[in-house]
Amino acid sequence: MTQALETIQNRMLEAEKEAGRSLGEVCLVAVSKTVPPLRIAPVLEAGHRVFGENRVQEAAQKWPDLRKKYPNTHLHLIGPLQSNKVEAAVGLFDTIETLDREKIVRLVAEQMRLQGKVCELFVQVNIGEEPQKSGVSPGALAPFLELCRDHGVSIAGLMAIPPQGVFPRPFFEGLRDLAQAFDLKKLSMGMSQDFEEAIACGATHVRVGSALFGAR
Ligand SMILES: *Cc1c(COP(=O)(O)O)cnc(C)c1O
Repeated sequence: MTQALETIQNRMLEAEKEAGRSLGEVCLVAVSKTVPPLRIAPVLEAGHRVFGENRVQEAAQKWPDLRKKYPNTHLHLIGPLQSNKVEAAVGLFDTIETLDREKIVRLVAEQMRLQGKVCELFVQVNIGEEPQKSGVSPGALAPFLELCRDHGVSIAGLMAIPPQGVFPRPFFEGLRDLAQAFDLKKLSMGMSQDFEEAIACGATHVRVGSALFGAR
């Protein structure tokens, strides 16, 4: 498993080099959803500290104990956030990548105030405008970002999952252009199948699960 970590880190360096970017500047979010703590531990032992989970409840079961043993672990929520989970999510996660509607923005703002905690926040964009997928559609991003401002919520960047089974590059470029247009610095895009492509398009965070932990 730590061999897989090394392989991915090397592929990321190669992609950064090829894109003329600074080596090591892209953050690997190791997606540990469905992976039991026993199989996460070797990656922590190897020194990796940034992980992504897609379910609040699963993360709440796995991570408090792991964090006692491995401090300074940075957790990203990469799955949809329901209103009844916002309190737990703000308590548990350092970064929430999936803001996508006003109610959640309002509740996250409220919980950050109550808990005295500032999470790093991304807006999820439905970059392929797929009806079944969550995320703010590109055309609705401007008013959504304004609404975030109204709630006193600072947005660090954008996150997206491009449509499956098609060449992802135009979607990565689309997300990058949106981030540039709104002066947002961070871009979470690229998974096991396409993280090198995403790095070529300016990703600052790639979310890699199966290439690291094996098939789910
Ligand atoms: C599962 C998941 C990933 C990781 O996918 P892999 O193909 O296993 O690398 C990345 N992003 C999100 C939002 C996910 O749910």
